[in-house]
Amino acid sequence: DQADTAQELTDGFHLLIDALKLNDIRTIYGVPGIPITDLGRMAQAAGIRVISFRHEQHAGNAAAIAGYLTKKPGICLTVSAPGFLNGLTALANATTNCFPMILISGSSEREIVDLQQGDYEEMDQLAIAKPLCKAAFRVLHAADIGIGLARAIRAAVSGRPGGVYLDLPAKLFSQVMNAEAGQKSLVKVIDAAPAQIPAPAAVKRALDVLKSAKRPLIILGKGAAYAQADDAVRALVEKSGVPFLPMSMAKGLLPDTHPQCAGAARSTVLKDADVVMLIGARLNWLLSHGKGKTWGEPGSKKFIQIDIEPKEMDSNVEIVAPLVGDIGSCVQALLDGIDGQWPAPPADWIGAVQSKREENIAKMAPRLMKNSAPMDFHGALGALRTIVKERPDAILVNEGANTLDLARGIIDMYQPRKRLDVGTWGVMGIGMGFAIAAAIETGKPVLAVEGDSAFGFSGMEVETICRYNLPVCIVIFNNNGIYRGTDVNPTGGPDVATTVFVKDSRYDKMMEAFGGVGVHATTPDELSRAVNAAMDSGRPTLINAAIDPGAGTESGRIGNLNPQSVVRKK
Ligand code: ADP
Ligand code: MG
Repeated sequence: DQADTAQELTDGFHLLIDALKLNDIRTIYGVPGIPITDLGRMAQAAGIRVISFRHEQHAGNAAAIAGYLTKKPGICLTVSAPGFLNGLTALANATTNCFPMILISGSSEREIVDLQQGDYEEMDQLAIAKPLCKAAFRVLHAADIGIGLARAIRAAVSGRPGGVYLDLPAKLFSQVMNAEAGQKSLVKVIDAAPAQIPAPAAVKRALDVLKSAKRPLIILGKGAAYAQADDAVRALVEKSGVPFLPMSMAKGLLPDTHPQCAGAARSTVLKDADVVMLIGARLNWLLSHGKGKTWGEPGSKKFIQIDIEPKEMDSNVEIVAPLVGDIGSCVQALLDGIDGQWPAPPADWIGAVQSKREENIAKMAPRLMKNSAPMDFHGALGALRTIVKERPDAILVNEGANTLDLARGIIDMYQPRKRLDVGTWGVMGIGMGFAIAAAIETGKPVLAVEGDSAFGFSGMEVETICRYNLPVCIVIFNNNGIYRGTDVNPTGGPDVATTVFVKDSRYDKMMEAFGGVGVHATTPDELSRAVNAAMDSGRPTLINAAIDPGAGTESGRIGNLNPQSVVRKK
């Protein structure tokens, strides 16, 4: 009869949800709308956590950082054309940063799109996504959903992780097929990111180069943090005795207060080291491409590089000892090779790094204790630094210009994967998406330290934070504008300067509008009290920290990247 027939059928909606669950994917970040509204509802009904955002870019950023934190692909679900394009920014950013995520977007009817007949939200999404991600797939038949998702998962997490696009035309969701055949079509991905073991000769070469060093340095990148090989990395650093420099998101992989940490002696170690071992860090712009003034005398360096991506080797300078494989396996192989009889690095090098570090820390200390109004960056960050020290398992999200550069230097991190920031692109707008996913994936309190401009890119998601009652405390470093809030319009006309916002804005009122806690803080003491209260209560909180509008510098630490006009009229 009819009831029996209905029980024996399944459809695209159910197959996708079953495939996600079969692969242990428990959370979807997205924005509902045609054609995926029911998919979200049904996924929630099936026990998947579906977090609805206000804009797809932030759902996408959330998925990306969920992938970074868990080594499983974060899922972002969007509608077609404009929603897809909004999510695509996050997908491209994830790919650039080597974060595994899958952007799943509904799309219009192939027949109409391909004939360009003008469908609702018509767009050839697959073609547009392809150059911006690691892999892109489209599923046209319900029976292929299992394979489609399996390919997407493997592409996202195996080798160098990255973003994957999965195109699901609206028609697919309601396609029906026999339920039993449907179940059989699903694929549980076995060993999605297989270990990649380095060649013994490459391990020996790397150890020989490291052993020959007079002034060795290890640079830890976010690839090393991602790998979750924390104990092995720590053992390698400690057994070798080599000073280490963490890249921004690798801070805390070993504590910034570790005696071998050279974070506070960055310029010195980059300039003076003779052998540099990169572990999951790229010689891109963030490391001045491995050459130039930052790196001292030309030709004075030998690089060892551990990376899962063979094409990364020699990308900017010659790598004398490439070690291709996953970081866990590579670091373990080095440890096995070291085995006991490893010479400590020369004492004069260790001593030089240590004294530079102590000198810089001492220089900074008094600036962090200034309890004035209006606050400057150092005074405010000094307060936050103490809070993170007392709450080392909190997750710090950080974006802005001065707010980013100064927080990176001032706030010590103590545990792996606790610092999430603007990453490889130095992109603005990751703040609320990262904060939301960090809270959801880890259950830990989140402290988001945001420039007032940076916050604006994702600010509406404070409603999302309040709606899900997440333990997120946002601190806005409000200096009335971009870089500084003191520019004036050179014409004297009525428009304010291009980098200036409404003076003395009260971002804290936004939070109150959605039932969260809003605080206006004018001194480091007030700031400190408010953050501690937020972290204790776990209530969504936004603190508007009034910073001296003249305190910042143009573009923070990367002002040199601004092109200069040679004929500019003053
Ligand atoms: P940072 O900005 O901290 O320097 P990057 O994103 O530039 O870090 O570099 C991360 C590197 O780590 C990339 O080259 C990527 O291929 C590599 N990587 C990511 N995950 C792994 C892994 N599990 N094993 C080995 N290398 C990895
Ligand atoms: Mg600002």
